[in-house]
Amino acid sequence: MTRALAAEQMRVRGTVQGVGFRPTVWRIASELGVVGSVSNDTQGVLITAVAAPAGLDLLAQRVRAEAPPLARIEAFERSAVALPAPLPAAFVIGASEAGLAQPAVTAVAADAATCAACVAEIFDPFSRRYRYPLTNCTHCGPRLSFVTGVPYDRPLTTMAGYEMCPACRAEYESPADRRFHAQPIACHVCGLRLRLERMDRRAFTIDSYTFLDDCDAAGTLLAKGHVLAIKGLGGYQLACDATQPEAVARLRSLKRREAKPFALMFAGIDAVRAWCDLGEVEAQALQGPAAPIVLLDRRRDMPVPGPADAVAPGLRTLGCMLPNTGVHHLILRRMKRPIVLTSGNLSDEPQAITRDELAARFPAGIDYVLDHDRPIARRVDDSVLRVIDGEPRLLRRARGHAPQPIALPPGFDAAPAVLAWGGELKNTFCLLHHGQAVLSPHMGDLEDAATLADYQRALRDLQAFFRFEPQRHACDAHPEYLSSKLARAVCPDTVEVLHHHAHIAACLVDNGWPLDAGPVVGVALDGLGFGEGGELWGGEFALADYRTFQRRGTFKPVALLGGELAMREPWRNTYAHLMAELKWPSFAMNYAELPLHDFLASKPRALLDGMLLKGINSPLASSCGRLFDAAAAAMGLCREHAAYEGQGAVEMEARVDHEVLQYEEEELGYPFAIPRLRGCNMPYIEPLAMWTALLGDLVLATPVPTMAARFHKGLALAICKMIDKTARAHDAERPLRHVVLSGGVFQNKVLHERVSTRLRNDGYTVLSHRRVPCNDGGLALGQAAVAAARALYGNTQETPACV
Ligand SMILES: [Zn+2]
Ligand SMILES: [Zn+2]
Repeated sequence: MTRALAAEQMRVRGTVQGVGFRPTVWRIASELGVVGSVSNDTQGVLITAVAAPAGLDLLAQRVRAEAPPLARIEAFERSAVALPAPLPAAFVIGASEAGLAQPAVTAVAADAATCAACVAEIFDPFSRRYRYPLTNCTHCGPRLSFVTGVPYDRPLTTMAGYEMCPACRAEYESPADRRFHAQPIACHVCGLRLRLERMDRRAFTIDSYTFLDDCDAAGTLLAKGHVLAIKGLGGYQLACDATQPEAVARLRSLKRREAKPFALMFAGIDAVRAWCDLGEVEAQALQGPAAPIVLLDRRRDMPVPGPADAVAPGLRTLGCMLPNTGVHHLILRRMKRPIVLTSGNLSDEPQAITRDELAARFPAGIDYVLDHDRPIARRVDDSVLRVIDGEPRLLRRARGHAPQPIALPPGFDAAPAVLAWGGELKNTFCLLHHGQAVLSPHMGDLEDAATLADYQRALRDLQAFFRFEPQRHACDAHPEYLSSKLARAVCPDTVEVLHHHAHIAACLVDNGWPLDAGPVVGVALDGLGFGEGGELWGGEFALADYRTFQRRGTFKPVALLGGELAMREPWRNTYAHLMAELKWPSFAMNYAELPLHDFLASKPRALLDGMLLKGINSPLASSCGRLFDAAAAAMGLCREHAAYEGQGAVEMEARVDHEVLQYEEEELGYPFAIPRLRGCNMPYIEPLAMWTALLGDLVLATPVPTMAARFHKGLALAICKMIDKTARAHDAERPLRHVVLSGGVFQNKVLHERVSTRLRNDGYTVLSHRRVPCNDGGLALGQAAVAAARALYGNTQETPACV
């Protein structure tokens, strides 16, 4: 009998702790009659199994196929071992091993929205967790936001101090239970209470209303028009009734957020449909365990002006999400209409995770807070996603995704450990080691002092958490980025990566492009980044691989009139463009009757012209983002002042007339030319003809949506032509066939889809971002990949192309 038995160790790597992996293995092994054990250690999950060889194969097969919903298996390695003596009598779940000597390469799962089974319990009057707002199980609830170390076990979470009641303990210890080893487990009996409090902690009652519990009372207050603070999964949030414009306006002034759109939370998918058009992919994304904010198009039959205008002024899209905790489910069930839900912070600060932080940020204006006892270990923001070109694409990577490791493409196995410090705006940082990259959750804009402090804390925290020891550092080439300064202070030999190269490399990793697969056409379009020789870039076409970035095309370099101010006052870009193309006398002569003329004439032109002439505080930048700003402002969109980066582009996209986009003749799209730059002979996208056409449309009082469509059409065509040139620049006989689209401009669905559709029709394979943002939130991953690739090849950046 024993002769037919074999023993194996099965090593499972990836996101396998805190997701119900061990009980799944236990269940399958028990069903198959396999004996042995399964345990967590710092490498992941280790299975020791004894059975007939066929039984071992079946076990391995089924564990992979039936892995729990939140698990991500990165590797499954099997090795034969000697038969243990004596043979184990059964299959058991081992305790978590501390294994302090080994590096922690195992991943802790990301936080997950309340699963369907838990929601059903919350609303089941016969369940012992009826209306218990902090209900969770092995498949849902807090993870990254409440763990304090690995291995994942209750003593290393913020709930270490809470005893389980006997009923919870029984669930926790039963391998057959959905809550087996669910570390955040709790119930009405065993502690962790939720309560509605006054912000100043004084006692209160809402005597005049009847309500079931504190969540229900919170719903009543929201319906009455109050702004409420709510403790969410990864931080405090502010909420108000989305259908009451006065409440939304009050929330805006409290947060000092003038125009940036707010996200909405709906009770369920049908409630979303009442406000937005919803495709199949979008519906799936909304209901996934990450419960991200999904950007959706407003229904065309929504009243305008209507409730959505206060939430997202000037936009056709709405950021929508579904409840991600029991608290949200209970409130929305009561409300019967959507709420605005936004992080508890002032404009760009990190969201508050303690009551003291919240009180310090909002000393007045918020009367009530729905609070609970589970401390938050680290903040985790909402993820943001948009379906573009048929695929869900993350625009902000946080809850539900970070810190899930991203497996590196083939060729990176032997790479040294790299710490990449990220960019300046929408910062994330990246730990690359053991063939995988851990991208931090969204940090935010480091210009904000509180965000910068939080970034430094998070850097220490995640490195300790993953026992990460960097052998190399990488940062953006911009000398003034705070992340670059910090990196160089830690390591003078930090690898400086060109901003747009990092964008392309991030997209290559996102698409699993192998290290030695050769160059691609890299297109990086964004607001601004540091280029070679201190140039400012923002619309670049390159032959690129992980190691090198050879620029082969660009946008016309135009002055950033007033430097930083050009970002905040979009008309400055219009003025700089018009002066570069037409000069004032010719503009004034031809377009004197346009309101745009009067607007620009009212500006201090003598001063501005002097700056342009002498190049004072007006550096040239080849920026696609600023071209969008300039054109939008000319059309009268977001002209005087931008409340957030890229507002003009976002508003112009929102106005696009889709009939014109699809059916009007291609020739009416605004034309761009592609001449060559004097001096270095590089082809560039020249907008002179576009401006003539746009101004002509203004004279004819052409509707803005038509103009917006024509601008997008013309620009998409120009980008594709430049891509063709770049592909042939590599080898005219055998042009490159793979095109990478990256940079924040590709968050624009209209432009992205138009470019990628045309490219595919022309026989190209388009690689664009999915798991990692195309905006600066993806830079750190690209920086890490570039530094790793150069270390593996022992070379550096090749000579610049523009010589
Ligand atoms: Zn659950
Ligand atoms: Zn309990």
